[in-house]
Amino acid sequence: MQQIDNYNFAGKKAIVRVDFNVPLNDKFEVTDDTRIVEAMPTIKKILSDGGAAVLMSHLGRPKEGPEAKFSLKHVVSKVQSLLSGVNVKFVDDCIGDKVLQAKKDLKMGEVLILENLRFYKAEDKDKEAMPGFAKQLAEGVDVYVNDAFGTAHRAHASTAIIAQYVKNKMAGFLLEKEIKFLGDTVANPEKPFVAIVGGAKVSGKLEVLKSLTGKCDTILIGGGMAYTFYKALGYKIGNSLVEEELVDTAKQILEDAKAKGVNFMLPVDNLAADKFDNGADIMEVGTEIPDGRMALDIGAKTIKAYAAEIKGAKTVVWNGPMGCFEMPNFAKGTFGVCQAVADSSAISIIGGGDSVAAVNQSGLADKMSHISTGGGASLEFLEGKVLPGIAAVRD
Ligand code: AMP
Repeated sequence: MQQIDNYNFAGKKAIVRVDFNVPLNDKFEVTDDTRIVEAMPTIKKILSDGGAAVLMSHLGRPKEGPEAKFSLKHVVSKVQSLLSGVNVKFVDDCIGDKVLQAKKDLKMGEVLILENLRFYKAEDKDKEAMPGFAKQLAEGVDVYVNDAFGTAHRAHASTAIIAQYVKNKMAGFLLEKEIKFLGDTVANPEKPFVAIVGGAKVSGKLEVLKSLTGKCDTILIGGGMAYTFYKALGYKIGNSLVEEELVDTAKQILEDAKAKGVNFMLPVDNLAADKFDNGADIMEVGTEIPDGRMALDIGAKTIKAYAAEIKGAKTVVWNGPMGCFEMPNFAKGTFGVCQAVADSSAISIIGGGDSVAAVNQSGLADKMSHISTGGGASLEFLEGKVLPGIAAVRD
């Protein structure tokens, strides 16, 4: 793959797929600019080489064509404030004559932001129209840079198809970092390699569990999915979350882990609540959840046992919370594991929306080696799938 670091953008116009899908308040101000800030290294590299950057992104989920509330014009002032002294322009479309003219008029050292890609169905929904749309996006530029990991698991016009119509293509710094950690580090992990897998359901993490069972030394299970494994082992689960149809699959995963010599750990104790509520009555129980109770967090002994495994690890991957961490009384497991990962000297990779939210809330983000910018994309990457957005810039 062409490395962005080794490419000289002098005199080139580069179209960059960024992820500017940022939250806005009711005044259409950006309330969290993390994604915009994270795109800056790639944009600044293009500009400092003496090139020009055309930025394209989606924002929100427009249903039928243009909707003012999803316009990318709302991010322009934020981008401008992060690029002081740079001329940041906006054009209220992403294809067509007006856009082509704006690309032509763009001078080296300038930035042009295009309108929301998803105002056109050809970006993500209308497969037949995708190539024509992608070709128009590619008009008037010399280079395509993909720096949007959050959509890299989708073969959309701007994330993958466009690469066929631009001669020079590459990953931006953000995408490169994701490939380095989620791809290279996980493919050749320093051992012991410990995976922490949590979240609501086994179904959402089935493929990742299968894939990690072949690679990890230890898998630590938490969250609602633990109780489907409990059921598979014949433990009482009370009213805890369970996926009956996956009990046999859970058995197979346990057998597979045993056969492969993986240390597959389940919670040894739990917080069992009488209802799904932060104010619920809480009982500390072992591996038998009493009737009428539901396990909503892992217990103190489990946190200690998991922390010990994490301490001895050289590589840690974490996806999914250990309990209902949105409720403070059931957040200790998730934050305990978070602290253990932060304290360990292992390479730590955090993927998935909820674990990333927990890490950010805990204030320990700067102690992690890598926090993935894509929920679904990071999961698919860990599952060992080829992501279209990465394959496109690799070919
Ligand atoms: P996922 O999207 O599959 O990663 O699941 C994340 C969600 O799982 C969070 O909203 C948690 O509140 C929820 N969760 C974690 N542990 C439990 C549990 N023991 N019972 C029910 N839901 C849980």
